Amino acid sequence: MMPLTKILIVDDEPPIRVACAKILSEQGSTTVVAENGLVGLEKAKAQDFDLVLIDLKMPQMDGMELLGHLNVLDPDLVKIVITGFATLDTAIEAVQKGAYDYLPKPFTPGELRTRVNRGLEKRALLREAKRLREEREKNLLELANEKNRTQTIIHCMGDGLLVTNRDRQVVLCNPSGRRLLKVKRPVQVGEPLDQVAGCPEFVELIESTLNLKGGQEMTSKEISPASPSDPVLMANCAPVKDEKGQIIGVVTVLRDITELKELDKAKSTFVSMVAHELRAPLAAIEGYLDVILDGVGVEDPQKINRILDRSRERTRGLLALINDLLAISRMQGGRVSREKERLQLSSLLREVVELIKGEALERQVELVADFSEELPLISANREDLTRVFTNLVDNAIKYNRPGGKVFVRARANDAFIHVEVQDTGIGIPKEEREKIFDEFYRVKSKETQRISGTGLGLCIAKRILEAHNGDIEVESQMNVGSTFRVLLPI
Ligand code: ADP
Repeated sequence: MMPLTKILIVDDEPPIRVACAKILSEQGSTTVVAENGLVGLEKAKAQDFDLVLIDLKMPQMDGMELLGHLNVLDPDLVKIVITGFATLDTAIEAVQKGAYDYLPKPFTPGELRTRVNRGLEKRALLREAKRLREEREKNLLELANEKNRTQTIIHCMGDGLLVTNRDRQVVLCNPSGRRLLKVKRPVQVGEPLDQVAGCPEFVELIESTLNLKGGQEMTSKEISPASPSDPVLMANCAPVKDEKGQIIGVVTVLRDITELKELDKAKSTFVSMVAHELRAPLAAIEGYLDVILDGVGVEDPQKINRILDRSRERTRGLLALINDLLAISRMQGGRVSREKERLQLSSLLREVVELIKGEALERQVELVADFSEELPLISANREDLTRVFTNLVDNAIKYNRPGGKVFVRARANDAFIHVEVQDTGIGIPKEEREKIFDEFYRVKSKETQRISGTGLGLCIAKRILEAHNGDIEVESQMNVGSTFRVLLPI
């Protein structure tokens, strides 16, 4: 039994139409009839058929013409022509024009069934071929898409990718690979590795990967830069193996680790600086305690008090240093701009001046606040800005002289608030003006020797201001004074 099939019968003779439909329906096909070529074409356009029986001689549109139209409509549709009084030549012509077979009149039901079933088998074959063709095309498309996707990924990777074969030739080098290896031209497939890799260290690493033995799966090495301006690279090489486990090439992933290296260096410098800064006051305190414990030459209670006073001073210094270090680490954790609020800078500055007034008086420095009551509100963290201005005013007093002055001014324009802390103090040498914003940097001079500090205040201030999209700069003249200018966006 044929699977469900649909047959169109186009014939102008009703008895033949009806008889064919009956015979074919009996064998399980669905049949549709048409009385001429025109109607037949309309029906073929409206529905899908597996096979069409076409009488060649019909009024309006004859079988030959219909054949031509059906070829265009569905090339896989099987057409069998019914040839009445036609000669063999006409049948051959019909086959040449796309008919699959012909059935000469008169024919028996058996002949009709045989031809039609052969035609339906052909149709099934054509359908299967079409399905396979479409599937293949889809697979090819998917394959092409997959290839494109992989190529795009390799092309856009931030890491460099270099693939080499056993003959030390480059098979693939992506744009990041060229950038990191400083190859300014396109790399051709098959180029010798040493022309692309540049440094011998890297070539050696790939060589050693090609000669890996046993279970070793990867080699990694930091490639030192040829010149200080070149990036520091980390190369990770993995062997490519064939199905027998033989190494046939190497895939290398190159990563720029310059920043990581710098960070690492900065971290260890910072740790040794901190250790150094902590050691000095602790050693001093230990020394003071030793003196008291030994009891040699300290029978005098006044002397003991002096030693204890100094110890307390050093302990306070240590605490200040630890607080500053905590502030720095908080900032490095990216938490500097905690909860910002709309604040009035003039009231914050007034509080700072009030807080420091006592110290100014003690050091005989006159503190002059010169700013209007109302400044535009800014969005900032109160605690952080208090720290910035306390440090600036405190420095202006510390690095001043008895009888000196400190002015705290603030004004605003359309976009910024400018705050100025000016002193008539010792001044900062020109070559050190930039460095004073670095961690632990303190100007070393006879005058600063006796002034305590951590060297972290300005560094913290600068970071806080950066986190507020602001800025700080200094102008100074030796023995005349310094002016620190802070800029904060409104
Ligand atoms: P410190 O705790 O040492 O004061 P800072 O980071 O606040 O640390 O300042 C760094 C250095 O800059 C100080 O040690 C000092 O040498 C110099 N400095 C800062 N402010 C002034 C100022 N107003 N006048 C002169 N020197 C200053």
